Amino acid sequence: MTQTTPAAGPVVARTRDELRAARKQLTDGDVAVVMTMGALHDGHATLIRTARQAARHVVVTIFLNPLQFGPKEDLSRYPRTFDSDLEICTREGVDLVFAPTPDVIYPDGDPGVRISAGPLGTVLEGQSRPGHFDGMLTVVGKLMQLTRCDSAYFGQKDAQQLLLIRRMVRDLDFPVTVVSVPTVREEDGLAMSSRNTYLTESDHEVALCLSRALRAGAEHASEGPSAIRRGARAVLVREPLALVDYLVLVHPDTLEDVPEWYRGEALLAVAARVGTTRLIDNLPVLVGPGGGALEVFSSVPTAEPA
Ligand code: AMP
Repeated sequence: MTQTTPAAGPVVARTRDELRAARKQLTDGDVAVVMTMGALHDGHATLIRTARQAARHVVVTIFLNPLQFGPKEDLSRYPRTFDSDLEICTREGVDLVFAPTPDVIYPDGDPGVRISAGPLGTVLEGQSRPGHFDGMLTVVGKLMQLTRCDSAYFGQKDAQQLLLIRRMVRDLDFPVTVVSVPTVREEDGLAMSSRNTYLTESDHEVALCLSRALRAGAEHASEGPSAIRRGARAVLVREPLALVDYLVLVHPDTLEDVPEWYRGEALLAVAARVGTTRLIDNLPVLVGPGGGALEVFSSVPTAEPA
């Protein structure tokens, strides 16, 4: 067994045997997992910090899951920054990092049996990325089993992913508590993402229209759905270099467009291509009198773990 243990850092497990051995040591309390594809940033660090505040042990998985990338997507150019990822995990007090290669996760090649996201996996992101959510749920399910976690932390940034994971855990009786963490943003409002490294400086300026549109839409929350959509779209149309895939105001549980009479919580979500990069962002909004954004539009929380 070749386990590497950097000074005061997490145990790094690359194989199933290494994971099993390291996981066995985490017996004196509950285990939270933060699943990532690497190229960690402050959004991931916030997930880890939130998990650390609640759980005795934190496991971070770093796995670029081929199953959730389409043939024309960015798997080959996705940033790989393991050394700095490990530094962040060390800084945040992670107990165990599981960083397997695809042959460890899929020893028999692509799995014939997969978890199906069902109809919710075919809309919004699923429409542009067929099979993406089946691939994502399959690996999340496997990583929940392999890490034997009690809780798992996911970002609101990927709202459809979060919803589908909650559904999977409920529908398939995974004994795991799913916790969501609000979107962490750059100071200028751009939602943090590993894919932001693809953006040139001018792309970055263009990309700001996504978060601006969400904020503008939320300002009309008290007036109702069409005012929210109109407010958001007005920002997007002023930025022709952002090629909008969708801008929707949907029910947070069904992802169906909310009707004009709707009052209550909704999700304002946007996807657009900027340069060579597909970006997504969303904002939970309370629609109706006294309504507005349900997420504080702030940058990285600086709070230290309790
Ligand atoms: P990824 O490595 O992009 O697959 O993301 C791993 C986890 O981090 C997922 O649960 C994401 O939703 C979450 N995440 C990514 N970016 C952010 C962000 N800006 N704020 C909060 N969570 C995030």
